[in-house]
Amino acid sequence: MKIEINGNSLELIVGDITMQDTEAIVNPANGTLMGGGGVDGAIHHAAGGELLEECKQIREEELDGNYLRTGKAVITKGYNLKALYVIHTVGPVWEGNREDAETKLSHAYINSLQLAKKNGITSISFPSISTGVYRYPTKLASIVALQAIIDFLSENNFGSVVLTLYSEKYYDVYEETLKNLTPKI
Ligand code: ADP
Repeated sequence: MKIEINGNSLELIVGDITMQDTEAIVNPANGTLMGGGGVDGAIHHAAGGELLEECKQIREEELDGNYLRTGKAVITKGYNLKALYVIHTVGPVWEGNREDAETKLSHAYINSLQLAKKNGITSISFPSISTGVYRYPTKLASIVALQAIIDFLSENNFGSVVLTLYSEKYYDVYEETLKNLTPKI
């Protein structure tokens, strides 16, 4: 499903985020930026060891040795990936505090988009942040994710945003939400 918002495009696809050839892909990282399981591990594996080296450098230099906070985003090169850049953001772990999780998840999308725009990037692919190991219920996450992206695209001249969902099951949830959020389009 693909829609136009304020001259930008928003598309939902079924696919593997590590294979996307948008200018940037988004990594749902953990705060250490040292890789891990799920999509994070797959992105580091596909990008090669230089990605970890740059992440270590960011931890030391940009973050003064601290973790990347939930909802924040940083950018690296893409190395062996098709994407030129990786934007690393940290989604919230679902612990039942819905309001707090919504704010943090929304910030993860918005901060990633703002960082992309600041770097002149005009196409970006997101996975479904927080809905794996971080246990955020997919339906609730889809509402927050899509509303954040729609709000950003409504206010910015950006380009193309792709949500790369890993299976039909996730795709169907996001598609239903997108239809509900954009009844007039
Ligand atoms: P988080 O820690 O933010 O929950 P995960 O990596 O555990 O992140 O998973 C996030 C979502 O991405 C899950 O819904 C999972 O099914 C999906 N996913 C897993 N591998 C891929 C992939 N290669 N491309 C796109 N999505 C993926």
